[in-house]
Amino acid sequence: MNSTVSETTSYHLRIRRSAWEPMLRRLLVHNDIYAVGTIRRLGALGELLLLVDELHVPAEIPNGQQRPPLEDWFVIVMPSRGEAGIDQILCDLQPRPTQLLVVLLLNRSLPERCRLVKVEHGKITPVDSCEIVGLGMLKLQGSPPGIEHLDVRRSSRTRGALGEALHDRLRGSTVTVVGLGRNGSQMCFLLAGLGIGRLRLIDADILQPENLDGMPGLPANDVGMSKVESLAVHLAAFRPDLPITYIEQPVTSRDATVLLHRPCDLLVSTVDNDAARLDVSLLANQTLTPHLDVGTLVRRNDFGCSLYADIRLLLPGMCVACVGGLADPEAAFYELSAPDGSLHRGQPLAWSDQRSGSLVHLNSMACSFGVELWLRLLRGEIGAYWQRVTWEANQGIHLTGTEVAGSAACRLCQPSTKSES
Ligand SMILES: [Zn+2]
Repeated sequence: MNSTVSETTSYHLRIRRSAWEPMLRRLLVHNDIYAVGTIRRLGALGELLLLVDELHVPAEIPNGQQRPPLEDWFVIVMPSRGEAGIDQILCDLQPRPTQLLVVLLLNRSLPERCRLVKVEHGKITPVDSCEIVGLGMLKLQGSPPGIEHLDVRRSSRTRGALGEALHDRLRGSTVTVVGLGRNGSQMCFLLAGLGIGRLRLIDADILQPENLDGMPGLPANDVGMSKVESLAVHLAAFRPDLPITYIEQPVTSRDATVLLHRPCDLLVSTVDNDAARLDVSLLANQTLTPHLDVGTLVRRNDFGCSLYADIRLLLPGMCVACVGGLADPEAAFYELSAPDGSLHRGQPLAWSDQRSGSLVHLNSMACSFGVELWLRLLRGEIGAYWQRVTWEANQGIHLTGTEVAGSAACRLCQPSTKSES
């Protein structure tokens, strides 16, 4: 869909790795063929996400005149002419003025001379960032964080451990956290300490006395404030250079939805209900954003205390319903689809119905696992991953972790199988 955009709008291209990889192999073997895909356009507030789900190689040179006037499209080509300019390519492609066309011009011998531009109303301008969504989260284009803003002394230990490339990547990253209870607040302080560039918070709850022990860093006299406001204030004291945006409303509210559609590098759900977890997961799929979901549980009985944590790092093409699952997917989906103010299904649950209590060190451990999974994804060491921690009473800690894929039969997260060709 096309929409009116301002001069200062930034454009962020994301391509599914499953579409990119096979096409890149073909382009490396055959010069002058074009890989083409339709762009889905999402966004608001001066930031546009341009999303490419599928690519194919047409039999002939693609031509904008033969495509719908308002269709946004994407083309990759490796010209045999080597230095063939973008002007020549555009002569071949003939985009209509009303179309947004993004062109990636590869250069086999001089990869640094690859060009990524967008063309709209005859004007050629650079795309602000381009990422291949999947293992390694390859970034083809993007402005590096300014070295002048780096507090060298403060970040020296973290930068030493992560290496400059990964630390720079984090400094240029935006993370959105949904659910700012025990796990969410731990997650925020961990991410802030690692040096991420921007943080967005969504939660409607008020800070209560029973929350304080699980949210280190928040003072007792903040009780009665919203959790996100209290967190934002104290995170700002911890990292004065960290821009924080927060929404004191439920994840399904309009303002939260707008914020969730803005480009970010990681969506985190640390929520206590499956409807919100599923909502974030589906938004992550829609916007081609990695999704980290963290859940914890403490059970105490006559034999002692058992700790459980589930940490899922998911990529587009999978969701919390088909990887690991939800306790009651139908109820979660009903809750998500129900209009605001609808009655909840079943009896309301007291906090103690499903768990014996909460332990701050379990929250901290689960979030630490989650953060490390994200770092390993960025390093290209792992793809989507499900880590489970089980520490039963009177037994040793048991860790099970595995790379995961979505279910092709999942009606919630699978991309449309519709092809352009
Ligand atoms: Zn799914």
